[in-house]
Amino acid sequence: MTLLRHTPAGEIKEREALVINPAKTCQPIGAMYAALGIHGCLPHSHGSQGCCSYHRSTLTRHYKDPVMASTSSFTEGSAVFGGQANLLTAIQTIFSVYDPKIIAIHTTCLSETIGDDMVQISKKAFDDGKVPEGKRIIYGNTPSYVGTHVTGYANMVKGIVKGLCKSSGTKGDFAAVIPGWVEPADMREIKRYLNVLGIPFVMFPDTDGVFDAPMTGKHVFYPKGGAKIEDIERAGDARESFALGRVATLAGFEQLKTDHGVGGQVLDLPIGLAATDRFVDALRNAYAVEVPETLADERGKLVDLLTDMEQYLWGRKVAVFGDPDQLIPLTEFLRTMGMSVRHVVTGTEGNYIRDRLTEINPDSNVKVGGDMFLLHQLMKNEPVDLLIGNTYGKYMARDEDVPFLRFGFPILDRQGHQHFPSVGYMGGIRLAEKILNLLMDRIDRDVEEHKLELQM
Ligand code: SF4
Repeated sequence: MTLLRHTPAGEIKEREALVINPAKTCQPIGAMYAALGIHGCLPHSHGSQGCCSYHRSTLTRHYKDPVMASTSSFTEGSAVFGGQANLLTAIQTIFSVYDPKIIAIHTTCLSETIGDDMVQISKKAFDDGKVPEGKRIIYGNTPSYVGTHVTGYANMVKGIVKGLCKSSGTKGDFAAVIPGWVEPADMREIKRYLNVLGIPFVMFPDTDGVFDAPMTGKHVFYPKGGAKIEDIERAGDARESFALGRVATLAGFEQLKTDHGVGGQVLDLPIGLAATDRFVDALRNAYAVEVPETLADERGKLVDLLTDMEQYLWGRKVAVFGDPDQLIPLTEFLRTMGMSVRHVVTGTEGNYIRDRLTEINPDSNVKVGGDMFLLHQLMKNEPVDLLIGNTYGKYMARDEDVPFLRFGFPILDRQGHQHFPSVGYMGGIRLAEKILNLLMDRIDRDVEEHKLELQM
């Protein structure tokens, strides 16, 4: 906090070799989150204990629930001679002690630098009889010196498709849905849309019922939620696939197409009015179904709310930071609400991300591969009325005395985010309500006493 007070306004220097307060975290966290979207899966971190502890604790702090994962526990010897021996021992121990249906291995900076070959080690594990009958191993390469937690999620989704999906030779009349990195409640909401539209589907990963499992008084090592392996296998027979959030899902989407000929559409996450319309439209057209009254009513409620609150939102300046799949539809939604998006910063790089964010926000400061220090400078140079982002933004919000909406990953200092969707029309209502309340609370706080209104 004290250091942030020294962030200078004025000229912003281009930096290439230095990141200050990154707007991202490391690949294996995303891989672990995706892996836990398979029922009965134990994620395994092929690296040192410290990496695994960090990844588990970040997810645990976000969800306030213990996150199970194992590690190859690299020592100096593994760093020199490679981690094969550790991984083979770990696979045998995990199946005999923890009895998962599947182990999802992700690499780390160290195992990638050594060059441990996951294909070869996995094969050896089967050849040496370390994998019991009917059990599975999948893997994703997640070197964290490139990419971000979103890339890690994408790499594990690709690993899930590669390792589990099968083709019977006959396509079925159902969809394969690959959601990007969203909360369990979002995954539940996406499934509700498919059910309400009457479209049969399989969806993976699916953290609904995993990170929001109820307290029963009994410790359950593998929660009842998560995509079932047999359902993921069937995805190779899907008539069409829908990938939601390009950065987190494209690798898996393309793998499904290459391996099993399942074509489909890559869409934005359905956050906000326009992106949800596109999602509903894509499903409606692909399966020739009518949009039921339930969804039409929910849409109408969102439009009604936006109309009613327009006077408080119009022209209000916003700065947002976070993950690209969220920022693309979120900034679009903020503009739909009439707000003025001034600064957009994401830690994940890529031309697609830059092009989409710039297209949606042509008059904003868009920085792809930027950091929080830069965002703070931008906010000092052009102040905003609202900051939106993960928990790490609270210091800047306090320093600049700006209302702060926690959105994205990780949220370490609030609870309940896993239970309420941000996607779909009702998710849009929730987002809009939170934004409006923050802005109106600020008016109530700052307005002169004689102007404090009962009715707003
Ligand atoms: S950045 Fe690399 S070394 Fe650090 S925790 Fe992540 S995987 Fe481990």
